[in-house]
Amino acid sequence: MEKNLYFDYAAIVLEIVLLSCILVRKMTNGRMNCVFVFLITTALLTTSMDILAVAFDGYGPGYIIEKYFFHTGYLLLRAFTSFFYLSYIIVLTDTWFKAMSGLIKKVMLFLPIGLVVALVISNFWTHNLFYLDEHDVYTRGNMFIWLYIVNFYYIAYSIVKIFRYSRYMEREKILSLLFAFGMVITAAIVQFIIPRILVDMFAYAIGLLLAFILVHRPEEIVDTDTGLMRTVAYVRDMRQSLDTGKKETLIMINVSNFHVIREMIGYNYTLAVKKRIAYEITEYFRTKSIPIEAYYIGSGAYRVRSMGREYDAEDAANYFNDLFKESEQYGGIMINMTVCVCIVRLSEDITSFEALAAFESGLNDEYTGNVLYGSEICRKVRYNLVREMDTIIENALRDDEFEVVYQPIWSLHQKKYASAEALVRLNTKKYGPISPELIIPAAEKSGAIHRLGMYILENVCEFISSEEFERLGLDYIEVNLSPVQCLQNNLAGNITEILKKHNVPPEKLNLEITETATFEGHSSVMNNITKLNKAGIGLSLDDFGTGYSNMTRIASMPFSLIKLDKSLTDVDNNPNLAIVVENLVKMIKSLGMKIVVEGVEDEHGADLFDGMGCEYIQGYYYSKPLKKNDMISFIEASLSNQ
Ligand code: C2E
Ligand code: MG
Ligand code: MG
Repeated sequence: MEKNLYFDYAAIVLEIVLLSCILVRKMTNGRMNCVFVFLITTALLTTSMDILAVAFDGYGPGYIIEKYFFHTGYLLLRAFTSFFYLSYIIVLTDTWFKAMSGLIKKVMLFLPIGLVVALVISNFWTHNLFYLDEHDVYTRGNMFIWLYIVNFYYIAYSIVKIFRYSRYMEREKILSLLFAFGMVITAAIVQFIIPRILVDMFAYAIGLLLAFILVHRPEEIVDTDTGLMRTVAYVRDMRQSLDTGKKETLIMINVSNFHVIREMIGYNYTLAVKKRIAYEITEYFRTKSIPIEAYYIGSGAYRVRSMGREYDAEDAANYFNDLFKESEQYGGIMINMTVCVCIVRLSEDITSFEALAAFESGLNDEYTGNVLYGSEICRKVRYNLVREMDTIIENALRDDEFEVVYQPIWSLHQKKYASAEALVRLNTKKYGPISPELIIPAAEKSGAIHRLGMYILENVCEFISSEEFERLGLDYIEVNLSPVQCLQNNLAGNITEILKKHNVPPEKLNLEITETATFEGHSSVMNNITKLNKAGIGLSLDDFGTGYSNMTRIASMPFSLIKLDKSLTDVDNNPNLAIVVENLVKMIKSLGMKIVVEGVEDEHGADLFDGMGCEYIQGYYYSKPLKKNDMISFIEASLSNQ
């Protein structure tokens, strides 16, 4: 039988081109690249063996050793190609640790290839796979089919893996891998039926080419400046590790003053700094032969992930912490880096990608100069709580668990409590009380703020329309509006509807808006403010002094009250702040707006702002926020004392 070798020749050319491309582009670092190089090399060897085996077959009788050698080599390597391809998919989905967990999984992975090895070796005396007939012609044995079965087994295993972890791969990657499998399967069937056409290895080479073009896009995941992996790879790998519960050690290295350094030494020297850090990190692990994946995720942030082998992360972290602290000269300027190094145990300290993201965003604030431990930081900041916030809010809304507390506001002129601010509270079984500073931003992000805002307003209106409220002689209740609520088109309409429903006169409600909300410059914010004002609802500017405090703009808005933020009340220790606050108070008053001073905690503060002519004080000195009934008793008691 004359065999057609053209497909094999084409496969050889393709494989050599692929290998050269990989070597020229230096795509040999990292586990995925290594496996891929291995895959192509075996493919090249397999194809060569196939060609040589066919060549010796063509020489007619004789050459028995050569024939046995090349046919055996081909069959053995051919079986390994599909096994290696599966290994490649496992590396691609980063699930080696899963594939190796438990005896059954190990057996599923290694038994079939072991079977082939046994068959190939035993073939020398059993001739079950192939033999040379009386004319020394290569002939398939009765167990030959097993090679195909094992081949298909590994292909099926790979396809299952791809589907199982498809959410970590882009669609075109999955499609290209599946397309490659389709081709390999078809080619194998064709070759089984028509053994004359050696199309098998050609299909395999095309599959590798597809993987190279569509799956291995180094420019997509490698940062060209540092040679390390980029943020996309980091996000993908972290998501995968955390979702699959893989236990790994992550070293985080943040140059927290990176922006300052860039301003000081310019782009070129910053590049040198970035490269040096990357070099030091990779060198450290290279000399210790510790396999790692290192990432540069921008703004002076590096991440190092151990690839399986246990090592002394503390040693490494301390080394980097000391090394990068030393000052270094760049372009004639001495640079001192502030480097925050932290060790995080993935799937132990942190169990979800969302929690990791929250952890990362607050890491620089934890800087102490020493190596930090994720476990300690996590104990302090409840990242799991952050992660669960959306569910907590939804459940609390559903189960009516939010509570509104009231902080009385003292009128310095009337010498009585003139109003109170409504503040939201949430007490959970699992986490205890949760601060509104966590609840509000989370609700803003998820969109639950609209329902939460209306819930609070309903609660407040119910209170205002009650008989108790009447008895307290309060002028109005202040309710916070979040910037996101202010962007809602029909906000003013919704609020007036609630007022109507509870029969609450609009002047009994005062809405607090922060500067950020008013300066969004969004037309719907202005629309809402104008409509609310027209409806007769009072408006306060909350947290004045924390934003840009653009007085021209504030003057043009219909605020009746300005609430000085608590950061402005610490004037005692800061004479310059005292001058600023005094003049701000004067300016606000001459604009005809009244002032509430927030966060006054002692008599001295109250006297000070009284002296400046401020109208209202809200602070712990008078009262902390109280549950509704406590607040009622508190104010009633103050009334009866007068
Ligand atoms: P805010 O509107 O500026 O509320 C005043 C905050 O200062 C309250 O914190 C209050 O407990 C606290 N405070 C009052 N007096 C003192 C004092 O003398 N010393 C100190 N250190 N703090 C004092 P809280 O209740 O934790 O609320 C924090 C922020 O969360 C509020 O700041 C507000 O922006 C937001 N928030 C609270 N409840 C709601 C709500 O129902 N809706 C919206 N959108 N935001 C809310
Ligand atoms: Mg407020
Ligand atoms: Mg405030």
